[in-house]
Amino acid sequence: MTNNIQAIRGMHDVLPEQTPLWQYAEGIIKEVLAAYGYSEIRLPIVEKTELFKRSIGEVTDIVEKEMYTFDDRNGDSLTLRPEGTAGCLRACLEHGLLHNQVHRLWYYGPMYRHERPQKGRYRQFIQLGVETYGMAGPDIDAELILLIDRLWKRLGVRDKVTLQLNSLGTIAERLDYRNSLVEYFQKYLEQLDEDSLRRLQTNPLRILDTKNPAMQEVVKNAPELMAYLGEDSLQHFKAITSILDDLGITYAINTRLVRGLDYYSKTVFEWVTTELGSQGTVCAGGRYDGLIEQLGGKPNHAVGFAMGMERLLALMETLENIPVARTVDVYLIMAGEQAERIGLRLAETIRNEIPGLKLQVNCGGGSFKSQFKKADKTAAEFALILGDDEVSRGEVAVKALRDDLPQKALSQTDLITFLRDQFKA
Ligand code: ATP
Ligand code: MG
Repeated sequence: MTNNIQAIRGMHDVLPEQTPLWQYAEGIIKEVLAAYGYSEIRLPIVEKTELFKRSIGEVTDIVEKEMYTFDDRNGDSLTLRPEGTAGCLRACLEHGLLHNQVHRLWYYGPMYRHERPQKGRYRQFIQLGVETYGMAGPDIDAELILLIDRLWKRLGVRDKVTLQLNSLGTIAERLDYRNSLVEYFQKYLEQLDEDSLRRLQTNPLRILDTKNPAMQEVVKNAPELMAYLGEDSLQHFKAITSILDDLGITYAINTRLVRGLDYYSKTVFEWVTTELGSQGTVCAGGRYDGLIEQLGGKPNHAVGFAMGMERLLALMETLENIPVARTVDVYLIMAGEQAERIGLRLAETIRNEIPGLKLQVNCGGGSFKSQFKKADKTAAEFALILGDDEVSRGEVAVKALRDDLPQKALSQTDLITFLRDQFKA
């Protein structure tokens, strides 16, 4: 006896019954990105480990304990990408795309993090990533938020998410703040958990990002970064909020929002929901100008975000009317050798005439009854029926599968007109 091999923990199959909702969401996402003039970039899933260490930061959850890192056959250390920003920037630097240019880019695909799998947290998950380069903002920062807001609306989940906004200022401003933060937490050492005690030495801002409920009180009373921001950072932040105010986008300023990655500066934001338990952040992003130099580029500007697709889909599944696309519109039933021969030709003609129509042909024969059963399972609207009688009369019978309407017989020409009309194809 051999055991069946199963998928890796935290890495999921998307089954055919689930893909229509994915495709629906992906279709809308592409439309919205196109409406703002964004271009797709396609990037490798594996990069040199060094890229992530240098960009994400050595003392982050991702680099410390979540990366899938391995030596390839040459002995080079490679890593399955845990996020897309580093690879996207690496590609743009490598191909000279950042020299006196402006870019609005998106990518879509799997990311890998060795986390404890739970609802909304997986080891392979899909992100939509959007990155813009060469724009100092605040208009582009606001544009990203408007784009995301439009996405929520189009996907029907706008009233399920709220926007949280903060500014992390510049590196110098954060350094100042860091000192007061350390001073503050030093007074409450006994209230800090193990992770936070470690971060107090390495990356104290990350303590604010803790998910430990026992630490919420001490974190709540910590000094606020906003008070340490200089004029330029404050102006930038104010300009974003005034664009959002103008355009009627509501937001909450969350001064504890620091994000998990080291490379942010000025703007950071998250869209959160209360409908998915503790994995409530569906989309997160911000400005990361400094990362460009960190990866060897000339001083430049960058702002972007990433959206967790599994969390978005889970949110869409809470909708009362879940939008689902049919995979089959019409199902062709055929019985008899003659009918099968004519049927295949008819199906090809229909596909020529109405390219958008989803027509599935019964394969493998069977009685009318069993073929009708299969037709019904596909969720098709109509069955087309070809038997000896229809063939001899040069007709096709049409039966509505979802409505109680009488079956009718149509000539091939009338059938095509009828289907065109029904599916507005
Ligand atoms: P979290 O705080 O939930 O761990 P993060 O700060 O690590 O998130 P980012 O690196 O900013 O997340 O990734 C952006 C988005 O990608 C998240 O808001 C979330 O929607 C999604 N995401 C991140 N990690 C996972 C995961 N392990 N499984 C599913 N989705 C994820
Ligand atoms: Mg995380």
